[in-house]
Amino acid sequence: MKVLLLDVYIKDSKYRICKDTNGSYGTANDYGDSLFPKLLTKIAKNTNFWPPIYLMYVGAVLREKGHEVHYSNNIVNDEEYDCVIMSSSIVCHESEIKEIKKINKKSKVIVVGSFVTSNPEKYLETGVKVVLGEPEFYFLRNSLDKILKDNNFSFNSINKENEDLDSLPIPCWDLVINRLSFSGGLKKKKCIPILGERGCPYSCFNYCTYPLAQGRTPRARSTEKIVEELKYWNKNFQVNEFVFRDPVFSIDRGRTENLAKAIIDEGLDIKFTIETHLNNLDYELVMLLKKAGVFIIRVGIESVNYDVIADAKRFSLKKEKEKEKLDMIHSIGIKVIGMYILGYETDTKESCLATIKYAKELNTYIAVFSVFTPYPGTPIFMKFKDRITSKNYEDFNQWKLVFDHANMSGKEIRGLLDYAFTTYYLSIRWIIKNLRLAL
Ligand code: SF4
Repeated sequence: MKVLLLDVYIKDSKYRICKDTNGSYGTANDYGDSLFPKLLTKIAKNTNFWPPIYLMYVGAVLREKGHEVHYSNNIVNDEEYDCVIMSSSIVCHESEIKEIKKINKKSKVIVVGSFVTSNPEKYLETGVKVVLGEPEFYFLRNSLDKILKDNNFSFNSINKENEDLDSLPIPCWDLVINRLSFSGGLKKKKCIPILGERGCPYSCFNYCTYPLAQGRTPRARSTEKIVEELKYWNKNFQVNEFVFRDPVFSIDRGRTENLAKAIIDEGLDIKFTIETHLNNLDYELVMLLKKAGVFIIRVGIESVNYDVIADAKRFSLKKEKEKEKLDMIHSIGIKVIGMYILGYETDTKESCLATIKYAKELNTYIAVFSVFTPYPGTPIFMKFKDRITSKNYEDFNQWKLVFDHANMSGKEIRGLLDYAFTTYYLSIRWIIKNLRLAL
């Protein structure tokens, strides 16, 4: 069959949209309204792109089964395809529905991804089929022909058998190889997303979409499979930069050490970015990771205020420990991207300003300030559902206030973002320590 992987984005958006981040609900990096955040927004848009990893796994599975697979961001002539597999997201939701309406034969459209899994109604209303859960496993176990001929509209892939990540083939990134980029700097660089592990057991599952999409029990690929994939892209496509998409890369220390040692033993000349929790890093491990090629570590700092963090059920280290760990990572020569959230439910303007001040003290290579967002499907959403002020799902982009906050307005939050990004990156301390690293 001729299959189209349809990955729709908001048309002509001025900011970078990624439908893989945020547990595949997606994010849109719309940093603020003043001049400097707008410049950063433009840089992020020009230097980052990759489609959702699950969509490219689906493509790889179908290709292995003999189908001809294509990728596109819009549909020109749907008659050309026997089946359209479409990614879902909150961040481009209305645009996705609009695109579906252009397709004549809705029953050949199958919508997949974590957003449709938690929120299938709006998609089903259009007459398409949906696969709930991890779609790559569903297509691995079932024939496409059977799904298309089935009179049902909803198929369930929430299954224990999904544990074997090694049963998945290498994602079909080759379909978009010339567009893939993730820089963590000012220059656009080719970079391939890699899956090592899925699932996160931490307490912030209350508001976080990763456990919602991937479960709370970590499942990992074998070291051999990961190294085999790194070698594949490195040798066949000359890619030497990768971004691990694990929600908490070093959650299993033994596995992390084995992987790092295996990469070193292979002599692969690669660099990679990871995201993890500071709790899981110490000097020996960070040294080993550096030797293996880690050059950027992303960590969630979130807020400086203990009460705000406790109220959000976020598991964080004590601030002294946090600073100590960041100093240790910096001393080893690894860049840090610190992620902060403004506008938690109990945040005030003062607590947000204190968080921004704390970020400046930490002075990491990159600081990303975003806005607390209660996502439909997460446990915390029930508490907020009567206070949601946004009519469109596309507003849930992590840089807009979407609910009636007791202490701040949406305009005030946007003002805080402007202040945070501008004063962080235009400070002498940041320029002296970090600017050359970004060039
Ligand atoms: S550590 Fe918390 S924020 Fe990070 S992926 Fe896990 S649940 Fe989500």
